[in-house]
Amino acid sequence: MTTPVYLDHNATTPIAPSVLEAMLPFLRGQHGNASSRHELGTVARRAVERAREQVGAAVGAQPSQVVFTSGGTEANNLFIKGAAAVLRPQQVVVGAIDHPCVAMPAKDLRRTGWTLRRLAVDAEGVADLADLDAALQVPTGIVSMMLANNETGVLQPVAAIAARARAARAWLHSDAVQALGKVPVDFEALGVHALTVSAHKLRGPKGAGALVLDKRIELRPLLHGGGHEAGMRSGTENVPAIVGFGAACELAVADLAAFDAHCRALRDDLDVRLEAAGATVFGAAAPRIPNTTCFAFDGIDGETLVIELDRLGFCVASGSACSSHSTEPSATLLAMGVSPELARGAVRVSFGPDNDARQASDFAAAVVATAGRLRRLTAMAV
Ligand code: PLP
Repeated sequence: MTTPVYLDHNATTPIAPSVLEAMLPFLRGQHGNASSRHELGTVARRAVERAREQVGAAVGAQPSQVVFTSGGTEANNLFIKGAAAVLRPQQVVVGAIDHPCVAMPAKDLRRTGWTLRRLAVDAEGVADLADLDAALQVPTGIVSMMLANNETGVLQPVAAIAARARAARAWLHSDAVQALGKVPVDFEALGVHALTVSAHKLRGPKGAGALVLDKRIELRPLLHGGGHEAGMRSGTENVPAIVGFGAACELAVADLAAFDAHCRALRDDLDVRLEAAGATVFGAAAPRIPNTTCFAFDGIDGETLVIELDRLGFCVASGSACSSHSTEPSATLLAMGVSPELARGAVRVSFGPDNDARQASDFAAAVVATAGRLRRLTAMAV
């Protein structure tokens, strides 16, 4: 069997060889607990603190601002639930296109007297600042807006949102899971109180992420116990994964310009070919992370197209990988005003540094041919 062409890097990425090399000693001999006082513990502690510096540096933050978690989901939950627990119940505002691991905990706050408002986006999938201004007319404790959307790749005006949120005395959080490693991310420049990042989206291992936090705000931890991570996240540190996360951050920053040039060329060329074949490319007129495109062909089911492409050896996603067990059309596309019929056709392609022009070109040809075949089959069936 030939190796499939992997075009689903927003779902997860292969671990970079240098990241694996950095991790291996901590999976073999160096098994110490970073809280232990003996030599093996000290080696583990130093490695965790080095990774904290690398993750902080990747987002322009101090190492002490980095709280390691099990990934993006936990970091998002930690911020939303942890902030709500120390603030009086008021309004929480989240993007209508935010990931379920922001949207669901925000919705859950309604049980404790909070009101939830979803921030509208325009037809290109960009958050509507006028809607935010309207939302901030009522007392608001938390605003959360992702930096880059996982499905369309559309970048959000987080700095402008943060400025408005601060003026309204709300805490501003941004889920930067799909942005880090693809575009520059700077905690200070964004003006946020908290930022979520995750290792496995940038050639690091699964199971490590971080909430980067303005040290002037205090959250209630989700996990209580031994007081790890300055009391913000108890539980023995996953040393190999954290070490890999640090190495992946350093690599991502060093490779950022090359990633942009490489992936943007593949993505833009694919978009041209898709549009020429009659596909709608969602958010194409907005600024996007360079590796992502999300498209649909009218009348062709996205799930079917993904399965057919899988048979041909191409791994892509229909809608969001994180909700791919759901048959509902993508909430992101619906929020952009896309019809449910067209949204059901959505397919997401996300390139990575290992993809080449030949793979992208073969994929474009396969999509166009498969879409044409499925269209003819549908026409025969009616
Ligand atoms: N936020 C966004 C935008 C994502 O795309 C994802 C995963 O797809 C997550 C959060 C969850 O991150 P993790 O898989 O590290 O829990």
